[in-house]
Amino acid sequence: MRVYKRQMRCRSDIDRLNGQFLAIFDSLIPPEEEKAKQKQLLTLLEKLIIKEWPRARLYLYGSCANSFGVSKSDVDLCLAIEEPDINKAEVILRLADILQSDSLQNVQALTRARVPIVKLMDPATGISCDICINNVLAVVNTRLLGDYARIDVRLRQLAYIVKHWAKTRGVNETYQGTLSSYAYVLMCIHFLQQRRPAILPCLQGMEATYSVTVDNIECAYFDQVEKLRDFGSHNRQTISQLVWGFFNYWAYRHDYTDSVVSVRTGSILSKREKDWTRRVGNDRHLICIEDPFEISHDLGRVVDKFSIRVLREEFERAAEIMQYDPSPCVKLFEPY
Ligand code: ATP
Ligand code: MG
Repeated sequence: MRVYKRQMRCRSDIDRLNGQFLAIFDSLIPPEEEKAKQKQLLTLLEKLIIKEWPRARLYLYGSCANSFGVSKSDVDLCLAIEEPDINKAEVILRLADILQSDSLQNVQALTRARVPIVKLMDPATGISCDICINNVLAVVNTRLLGDYARIDVRLRQLAYIVKHWAKTRGVNETYQGTLSSYAYVLMCIHFLQQRRPAILPCLQGMEATYSVTVDNIECAYFDQVEKLRDFGSHNRQTISQLVWGFFNYWAYRHDYTDSVVSVRTGSILSKREKDWTRRVGNDRHLICIEDPFEISHDLGRVVDKFSIRVLREEFERAAEIMQYDPSPCVKLFEPY
């Protein structure tokens, strides 16, 4: 780890970084024309798909739909086919066939992936996209994240900065044992729920105004978020303070031995009550983040004994930089 000349940054110094963080946030927001191109591609795909499966629906999910998408993100799509006993691999192959014969490029059917998908690139818009089948829970958790983002702009700002940091530092790769973007956004929501006064409420702890059952899981929460626009107004922490606090929390304050982060309850649960105290198969539970709907699902389960060290060292590096480095907005995002 780097050693900095220990000139500790005080609160007003941290506030002075605010403009720089906001400028980074602004630079990551996709331009309107990119959104329009995504819509154009969605319309084209819908037209092609509807001919084969007239009752199917195509949903946008992931970062293009939850408002945490940076410019040039891949588009995640879910084809929902309400037919009993469909064979996903067969649908994937048929879908790839249909799309291949149109003007799309690099159409690949990945039938053996953990989540089988069709991957493609649209030469007209330059957009790449992944299409999965019947992963409706992802559509619903995308909606939940998007609703949290509409309550307080600081969530979107913090999540963009954390995602940008994770990508440049190489800790946003689930196949290498680090965390998904989805997990990082949940960590940000949890962090803002825990501020005092809280910046975000716990939508699943409030009276449900939206409810849907997917794969036998009841997904219910308060979705009238326009009524919650003032929720975080008693807490005036700026984005630079929150970035500082976020890294400080994950570097020094989170209890990795006992705690489970739970956006669903707006609190911290114990590993014991989740029965996440030991390794089961490949699931190690070294950093625990409960999925808000699939509550037996720990988003940290991909993290192993090597990658937990990498992750924690990266959190510590970021916390140190925020505390001591003379130009944190540069150092924080230095490629690893
Ligand atoms: P990026 O901008 O990096 O593409 P993203 O928001 O699309 O970020 P991903 O981690 O690629 O995030 O995941 C896409 C979507 O898939 C998420 O928004 C979520 O709906 C769903 N998802 C991803 N990982 C999981 C998981 N482990 N369990 C449940 N749903 C998940
Ligand atoms: Mg994505």
